[in-house]
Amino acid sequence: MANTDASASGQRGTRLVTVGCGKSFCYQRATTVVTWTPPGSQQDKAVCGEHTDYYRELTAAHSPQTVQIAEGTHTFIADGQGTQVGICRHCGHYIYLYFRVAGRVGNWWRGSEWDETGRCGDAEQRTGGWRVWHEPATTVEERDAALAATVCGRTERHALRDCQDTRAALAAAAEPVSEAQKLIADETAARARYERACEAAARAGGEVTAAAKALDKAASARREYAERAAAEAAAAVPIGAAGAASDQAT
Ligand SMILES: [Zn+2]
Ligand SMILES: [Zn+2]
Ligand SMILES: [Zn+2]
Repeated sequence: MANTDASASGQRGTRLVTVGCGKSFCYQRATTVVTWTPPGSQQDKAVCGEHTDYYRELTAAHSPQTVQIAEGTHTFIADGQGTQVGICRHCGHYIYLYFRVAGRVGNWWRGSEWDETGRCGDAEQRTGGWRVWHEPATTVEERDAALAATVCGRTERHALRDCQDTRAALAAAAEPVSEAQKLIADETAARARYERACEAAARAGGEVTAAAKALDKAASARREYAERAAAEAAAAVPIGAAGAASDQAT
């Protein structure tokens, strides 16, 4: 799949990030993803309007399907399923638009296959809780600005989950850190590793048992701590009651 990151639109120096047509010697911007299913696999191609018909005819025997390319798609996951990849203009991380939802109305860009919400946590932190969706940068300038201002501090392109371990470690190292915070960070890191294991297993087959066990362990440690803390708080004499009692005594 062609990655024409720096393809110029020629309009007042604005450079668009959207991928170019994947047909050799065609320099038009891609508008459509064509996917088809030859026996035993699946393939995809990003093409311009003109070459959409060409590939549709070429693959006519293999049930071709098409979907529009979203503005800001700069490449595709190499899984042959037409998953579009952009860089979020709010948080600077990779975001994904899956083929099966790409044609639907609404915002369907996500942080990962396991992200059910499509919400941009980093941006929501900055806005103090206003709901923000992951949205792709469509120009080189927009993309570079987002990459230069990531919350995680990394300026090279990477997926959100590639920095979740680092974030958890940073949170754990920051002083002062409570036992509860540490347990939450452990659970977050375990969850990230589990999700990556699921993703790898879904792609290539394999075991997620070890990661699942580690996640269970971290989650129950965090839960037990929370229950213990709640029980201790309930057992402690309420400050208000003690104050009222000593007031009566004097
Ligand atoms: Zn073309
Ligand atoms: Zn984002
Ligand atoms: Zn990051």
